[in-house]
Amino acid sequence: MAVMKICRLGEDVLRKKAHPVKLFDRRMVGLLKDMAETMYAADGCGLAAPQVGILRRIVVIDVGDGLVELINPEITERSATMSIDVEGCLSVPGRRGTVERPDWVKVRAMDRKGREFEFVAEGFFARAVCHELDHLDGVVYVDKMIEDVTEEMKKKGEV
Ligand code: ZN
Repeated sequence: MAVMKICRLGEDVLRKKAHPVKLFDRRMVGLLKDMAETMYAADGCGLAAPQVGILRRIVVIDVGDGLVELINPEITERSATMSIDVEGCLSVPGRRGTVERPDWVKVRAMDRKGREFEFVAEGFFARAVCHELDHLDGVVYVDKMIEDVTEEMKKKGEV
């Protein structure tokens, strides 16, 4: 396993649409492992493959309940109700901003063996799913940011 270099806002790869995974081979599993290691090393709670320069629809998330690997994920349903909360991004270090996201989302994805599964994510987990899935379409949270709260968070020592 290896820690990968995380691309920063301004790099082209973060603005491109990622391609679906078709080959569930050892290389893909290796990438999943490297992405998880990179996310944990950077103290993040989510990482999408374009953030490490790879245009594949792969996401890893850990909001404190264990590692979730999502391949070719899609949101199939979302709550009508939305919440505004603070987000950060490993590709936008040292900054925080508020974004409006659905309270829950229903997700269909594949596991590392190519088996399809479905789940409902709520609260912060739903927020992380939406944030990471946006990366697969070249969208970064700052595009949707309501308010930049970097200074506010710095005063609280949270950035
Ligand atoms: Zn991000």
